[in-house]
Amino acid sequence: MNKQDISNIKHLLSIPKKIVIVPHKNPDGDAIGSTLGLYHYLTKNNHQVQVITPNDYPFFLKWIPSEQNILKYDSQTEACDSLINDADIIFTLDFNALHRAGNMETILAASKAIKIMIDHHQAPDDYATYVFSDVSMSSTCEMVYHFIDMLGDLSLIDTNIATCLYVGIMTDTGSFRFPSTSSETHRIIADLIDKGANNSVIHNNIYDTNSYKSLQLLGCALTNLKVIPESKTAYITLSQEELNRYDHKKGDTEGIVNYGLSLDNVVLAAIFIEDKQEGIIKISLRSKGSFSVNEMSRSHFEGGGHINAAGGKSSLSLKDTVEKFISILPSYNKALNNE
Ligand code: 5GP
Ligand code: MN
Repeated sequence: MNKQDISNIKHLLSIPKKIVIVPHKNPDGDAIGSTLGLYHYLTKNNHQVQVITPNDYPFFLKWIPSEQNILKYDSQTEACDSLINDADIIFTLDFNALHRAGNMETILAASKAIKIMIDHHQAPDDYATYVFSDVSMSSTCEMVYHFIDMLGDLSLIDTNIATCLYVGIMTDTGSFRFPSTSSETHRIIADLIDKGANNSVIHNNIYDTNSYKSLQLLGCALTNLKVIPESKTAYITLSQEELNRYDHKKGDTEGIVNYGLSLDNVVLAAIFIEDKQEGIIKISLRSKGSFSVNEMSRSHFEGGGHINAAGGKSSLSLKDTVEKFISILPSYNKALNNE
């Protein structure tokens, strides 16, 4: 985003506008934190703002300030369609291609609104009028902080905005430990705490609100964990039957993939989760060092993401998906063993 873009956006936002903010499908902490952080900022500037998510999100995000005002496209389609059709500006946050908005792709593509992308994923598409894309950023929340800074409004960051942005920086950095965490990330986090984010309460609300069944599901996942030492790889499977057995709810599987990566001498971790309703296996990949799971996901699993965290899917059965994964590993052995 250059000086001209910033000055254009400043001008655009100098009078009240109708604004819709959209994150990717199956929104995570960064997606909800960034959209709500921006929502509070724009609302404070007298715009008419609505956050619309393509679908629902996990329980552990359902306390973030103004979360209850979010509309969900899959269950409130008519109201959402009319808001999108009336919008002057649409912000798309935490995704790089319109298909990542799932069922909202068509209406977003057809909309004549000015589109502003804020995102940190690799290889952004060019659907937006203004693109603020930076793959070196820890999170879209960190970018929203910079966006507010570029507009000269850091002094407007209050407890609500600070809380929202803290959530996404914390979740996308694995609590400030992934390589994307910079000293600047920590400086921003310090500023957000100064501006009212209660770090201890936020950590508790996100990480310490498990249900008994979700911990039992984690136990099942860890029992299913397999290691392939020659490829420095660990993988976990969860079948639909196992998910049903533990009364699986959205978000219960979030973060489980990281247990594979916590093993000594493991560089690549994967989780394969069966979704009978969608007829797919949802895949999450994580890596240490310079091994790119973004490349692996793009090449083999119709997905993408970042170097150390990516997602994808497969329409094969759970067993065949795992077999496919195991069969491609040898071609990566050299890179995996160089880490
Ligand atoms: P997760 O494994 O937690 O679902 O996703 C890890 C990262 O990869 C996130 O940044 C997420 O946005 C991205 N990601 C997940 N699934 C997909 C996908 O199907 N396509 C692309 N391009 N990115 C994905
Ligand atoms: Mn993100």
